[in-house]
Amino acid sequence: MRFDAIVVGGGPAGASSAYHLSRKGLKVLLIEKENLPRFKLCAGCISARAIRLLPDGYQRLILNTIRAGRLGFRGLEETRAEAEGAVAHIVDRRDFDHFLVSKALEAGAELLRAEFLGFEREDEGYRVYTSWGTFEADLLVGADGFYSKVAKLLGYRKKKFFRSLELFTDGDMEDEVLIETGYVGRGYLWVFPHGDGISLGVASTGREDLLRILKDYSEKKGIKFHHPRGWHIPFVERDEDLHAGRERILLVGDAANMT
Ligand SMILES: Cc1cc2nc3c(=O)[nH]c(=O)nc-3n(C[C@H](O)[C@H](O)[C@H](O)COP(=O)(O)OP(=O)(O)OC[C@H]3O[C@@H](n4cnc5c(N)ncnc54)[C@H](O)[C@@H]3O)c2cc1C
Repeated sequence: MRFDAIVVGGGPAGASSAYHLSRKGLKVLLIEKENLPRFKLCAGCISARAIRLLPDGYQRLILNTIRAGRLGFRGLEETRAEAEGAVAHIVDRRDFDHFLVSKALEAGAELLRAEFLGFEREDEGYRVYTSWGTFEADLLVGADGFYSKVAKLLGYRKKKFFRSLELFTDGDMEDEVLIETGYVGRGYLWVFPHGDGISLGVASTGREDLLRILKDYSEKKGIKFHHPRGWHIPFVERDEDLHAGRERILLVGDAANMT
């Protein structure tokens, strides 16, 4: 079956790509390997500027509206800044990503629950192999996240990245974000509200014991500890760290190292 565009990955980058391409009148296939809605490790903090770019209806997904931020150093000193209006919003990624995919489908995209396996260049575009069959398209969008297979097949390698651990737990917190420095060399620890609870996480480009750091911090601050989950976050230092794709293959989101 032939499409104008095949988008691999139903996260925010892929779902938004499918949404916008469909609204432009293209015939779009969105390929996602997980059953939706699916979990994605993320604090879900979206800047107020970015959230305005979303399709209408996102408002019901906002769990917390952030108007202030605190910058701390090793849990000791803190500087607090307050804005007049909202600076960011917290969403839950399961619902958020599902919402964006449903908007793409409303706009006309088709969803295939399958794993992308590879592609071949053809005269008129690409032949795309999935666990549910083969499809053709003029344009391929790789939005398959940090471990992007599309990017790997194009020969890209991520040289630098943040390792991260995050947990979601009970806890009372004002609707403001706390960023702690000084626990890791290059990176930070965060405590964000997440609905009625909180998310606590740490990200670093170094080799620190992140689990130990989170445990010690939880104990010191009286935060109920649950086993965290781990994932990687792109780290971009130079122009060449951005992996845009080539010919008619476009990489977006974490696949492109855009973060
Ligand atoms: C701990 C942590 C906290 C974070 N907090 C924030 C935050 O507060 N604010 C913020 O802006 N960013 C945050 N991020 C970063 C953010 O989560 C990512 O930048 C974002 O999810 C990237 O979106 P994406 O659509 O590119 O990829 P993803 O959200 O990773 O989506 C990729 C999709 O592709 C699918 N996929 C992968 N491979 C295949 C395949 N072969 N075939 C088919 N489908 C495939 C996956 O199942 C997934 O659904 C955080 C990241 C981490 C790890």
